[in-house]
Amino acid sequence: MSKKFECVRVVIRCRPLNETEKKDGRVCIVNMDTKNGQVTVRNPKIVDEVPKQFTFDQIFDTQSHQENVYNSTASPIVESVLEGYNGTIFAYGQTGTGKTHTMEGKDDPPTLRGIIPRTFDHIFERIENMAKNKQFLVKVSFLELYNEEIRDLLSKNIKNKLEIRENPDTGVYIKDLSKFMIESPQEMREKLLHGRENRAVGATAMNQDSSRSHSLFQIIVETNEMVQGQSHVTVGKLNLVDLAGSERQSKTHATGDRLKEAININQSLTTLGNVISALVDNKSQHIPYRDSKLTRLLQDSLGGNTKTVMIANIGPADYNFDETISTLRYAHRAKQI
Ligand code: ADP
Ligand code: MG
Repeated sequence: MSKKFECVRVVIRCRPLNETEKKDGRVCIVNMDTKNGQVTVRNPKIVDEVPKQFTFDQIFDTQSHQENVYNSTASPIVESVLEGYNGTIFAYGQTGTGKTHTMEGKDDPPTLRGIIPRTFDHIFERIENMAKNKQFLVKVSFLELYNEEIRDLLSKNIKNKLEIRENPDTGVYIKDLSKFMIESPQEMREKLLHGRENRAVGATAMNQDSSRSHSLFQIIVETNEMVQGQSHVTVGKLNLVDLAGSERQSKTHATGDRLKEAININQSLTTLGNVISALVDNKSQHIPYRDSKLTRLLQDSLGGNTKTVMIANIGPADYNFDETISTLRYAHRAKQI
């Protein structure tokens, strides 16, 4: 198996039917065989249609716990970030399927905490137990990509649009993006909350729907190790991405700004899919990072020596059939050789 292929993992997570769906008499059309990594979806509209089956690296059924999801998706990536590699975790899926639940979750009870807060604890626990000849510096930034415009969620001026720049030595970066030095999981949690609040306030002020934007919480870990009197610095970056809802906007209803939004989301998710499948397919010479801001700013954390996981979230109910199939197809394409 190729080296690059192992760097992209695609997993599926299905949320349970919610109370409203149960009350409305919705039925579950998704069947998951966690042992064999198989997801089977039946078409509720055509009774004798053969159910559609997909196979993935791993699947998490409606009973899966946040801790399991963390341990088998994020944990190995965090470990390699601490060793100086870059890593990226995406949550993909239709709005309401559990992207934010998977990435952030709820603080109370602690069992419901998602990947981002667990990452904080993991990093600081490791740092505390590291050898004395190592020093760490942890920095975070938090941004939102809305309509191909970048906004700094940790800045007072969230309305400011930031620009992507390229430095021949250090690569792609975002000009003027704020970065904060962090010394404890609690401080990181405060940044997450602060950014989330800014995001909601900004969305209201600008009349935007935050399910239409991508968010990126980035953690940078710098390690300084003294080896035989010489200092040796490594830098690892971890990107935690809660993607915009993948649902197709009805072409007849969207107009003006909403239509522009829909086109931009489509373009960035399509480009992300193209980049991942080009990385997975070793033969591709050209990786189309430049086709969207999302892939451009993650360029040095996708492919090559980095680890990437895509968690594709789906809903179990009959009325989600079309979107569920579309998510499974997208995810499957990202894992195919
Ligand atoms: P998204 O971010 O994809 O729009 P959310 O994460 O906000 O979706 O999830 C929608 C609702 O479903 C939330 O109330 C969330 O708590 C709930 N939910 C999502 N996934 C699960 C799950 N695996 N188990 C229980 N509840 C879930
Ligand atoms: Mg969400």
